[in-house]
Amino acid sequence: MARIGGTGELFGTDGVRGIANEELTVEMALNLGRVMGTLRKNVAVGMDARLSSHMLRAAVIAGVTSTGSDVVDLGLVPTPALQYYVKTNPKIDGGVLVTASHNPKEYNGIKFIQDDGREFTRDMDEESERIYKSKTYRIAAWNEVGQVYMEDCRRHYIEGIKEKVDINAIASKEFRVVVDCGNGAGCVTSPQLLKELGCTVISINAHPDGNFPARDPEPVEENVEQLKKVVAEMNADLGIAHDGDADRATFVDERGQFVSEDVMLALMARYYVERKKGVVVTPVSSSRCVEDAVRAAGGEVVYTAVGSPVVAETMIKTRAVFGGEGNGGLVFPEHLLARDGAMSAAKILELMALENKPLSELIKIVPRYFTLKTKVPCRDKMKLLNGLKEEFPEANFIDGARVDYDDGWLLIRPSGTEPVARITAEAKTETRAKEILELGMKAVKRILS
Ligand code: MG
Repeated sequence: MARIGGTGELFGTDGVRGIANEELTVEMALNLGRVMGTLRKNVAVGMDARLSSHMLRAAVIAGVTSTGSDVVDLGLVPTPALQYYVKTNPKIDGGVLVTASHNPKEYNGIKFIQDDGREFTRDMDEESERIYKSKTYRIAAWNEVGQVYMEDCRRHYIEGIKEKVDINAIASKEFRVVVDCGNGAGCVTSPQLLKELGCTVISINAHPDGNFPARDPEPVEENVEQLKKVVAEMNADLGIAHDGDADRATFVDERGQFVSEDVMLALMARYYVERKKGVVVTPVSSSRCVEDAVRAAGGEVVYTAVGSPVVAETMIKTRAVFGGEGNGGLVFPEHLLARDGAMSAAKILELMALENKPLSELIKIVPRYFTLKTKVPCRDKMKLLNGLKEEFPEANFIDGARVDYDDGWLLIRPSGTEPVARITAEAKTETRAKEILELGMKAVKRILS
């Protein structure tokens, strides 16, 4: 079987991903649809704006209906819009998204959703993979095949977000915002939501286009230069950038400067803990500025392995008030136990309105760290993990090895999607961060040599 990251498994940390029509084929999409149809009776199917998404969605729908399960076809939607639809519609017990999120344009992916709107857990993905590999799908008789219903969930999603933010506070500020949907799925909801929140909206790259003519779908700083410029030139209060399926959002402040994803996570975590107290859940790869911000507000951080499904699962177990990843993926449990880019944008506007401060002022309460990242080729994950236990017996082994020092930390972990070891080092000064990174690189070389 083709795979997809070289890990030997079909499902990675974020569903099945691969180059469309090469690694991720129509046959695979059909069979993954059969798997979902075998597991669930009423399945919502949605897709992002990629060139291959229509093709793969048609195959998924054929697969689901061939098992006798029905499909609600939601068409082009942001990932969290489908998840919110599944969560709030009692008749729907599962979902499938055709999306490769932030990956380059040649990729696509298939992701399964539970009845509560969360992504499938690791165990559920493993069960799906067993059915896929053993081909033990249900096959319906000719007169029992599933039916397909069309529905539009965009209005429902926009209303769902509006219910959970202080619209009057936001509208009273008459914010001017620039939103860069990156020609992805966010085009169909985010500009409209922002308008309904009373903002003056300037949309860029706001028509769906799977060629991604303006920028790479990942909303990291180097890809949002245009947004930075437009925010500064238009004297806007905020810039918002989405990834390809709009479950993530990154931000530019009113000076046109990019705000690091970790800093936004820390800021939002602090906002939630100040108002609701309690626990914040984040992966071990997140900056310590998150823990500092949460502690300063009297809360507690619970760390997880990397990957949004485990963050959501841990949020349920710990009854967390907030969670998120240091990549612009924020989770608001009162709304959805999954990342939501449009909800993130609405909540940042609420915070700016209630505190009556521009974003550049708000982020001053978040302590600054220097974070350095690198990757080293690694085909033998077990050798790496065993070696790490010997090298760093004092480490935390939630995901790879995380070693905490007084003035920083080191994380070494095998990637879930590529044959590499990822090394992250963070410290108060750049010199110290470099020192820690080198220590990590030397250790990995020793282990793998
Ligand atoms: Mg995404």
